[in-house]
Amino acid sequence: MRVAFLGPPGAGKGTQARELAREWGVPHLATGDMLREAVTAMTPLGLAAKVYMDQGALVPDDVIVGLMRERLDALDASKGFIVDGFPRTIAQAEALGRVLADSGRALDAVIFFDVSEAELLRRLTGRRVCRQCQATYHVSSAPPAKTDVCDRCGGALYQRDDDSEATVRKRLEVYARQTAPLLDYYRGQRLLVSVRGEGPIDGIREAVREAARGAW
Ligand code: ADP
Ligand code: ADP
Ligand code: ZN
Repeated sequence: MRVAFLGPPGAGKGTQARELAREWGVPHLATGDMLREAVTAMTPLGLAAKVYMDQGALVPDDVIVGLMRERLDALDASKGFIVDGFPRTIAQAEALGRVLADSGRALDAVIFFDVSEAELLRRLTGRRVCRQCQATYHVSSAPPAKTDVCDRCGGALYQRDDDSEATVRKRLEVYARQTAPLLDYYRGQRLLVSVRGEGPIDGIREAVREAARGAW
């Protein structure tokens, strides 16, 4: 199973990808998670990326493509993968196509999470993330059993700097301008499957399973 999860910030891509990657036995390759790890480790990549991330802008394509090429060519991705938050521009999508073609692979499906803008704002400003395992919670719609403690690993939860309302608005604009064109791009390749991203998390998971089964 080689799938990409596409959708605006806050659409629930990470929430679904974490569970389904485990279920399908494939790695969950989330560019946002990788970049945040690089920021925490203060690597040169992390320091360069942080400037863009703090502004809600996209990190340059060549940086992201280099990072993902390495990850997609690693052994664990040979049996399949979920890419989450990548590609985010047409240039990234074209590069992804070339990286996969170089090893005789191609995407099976691109699953689009359809969520209204009002709901995205509500979700992003209430999002909490585990410092240790990156699991995602929401203060009101998906709270942990114990306030600010991760159910899975006991790690401390925090609010991402870029989940402030001002930066969220900027990220939604960036999405509309730079990422939304991918819908037509993948529709043209007959890879796009749309899933309603609102409602109970379990119900959405089943819809994604079904979309993936249909593509396989
Ligand atoms: P993305 O990876 O697309 O940016 P996340 O998976 O991080 O999105 O989810 C964004 C926020 O919305 C998180 O706080 C998460 O707990 C919450 N969330 C995810 N799915 C749902 C859902 N179906 N209903 C309500 N809240 C959700
Ligand atoms: P979201 O909740 O918006 O899905 P992510 O965790 O995927 O957030 O991304 C956080 C930030 O990391 C983005 O705002 C952007 O600065 C950077 N980023 C993540 N993925 C990419 C990508 N594929 N291309 C460029 N920048 C990226
Ligand atoms: Zn955790």
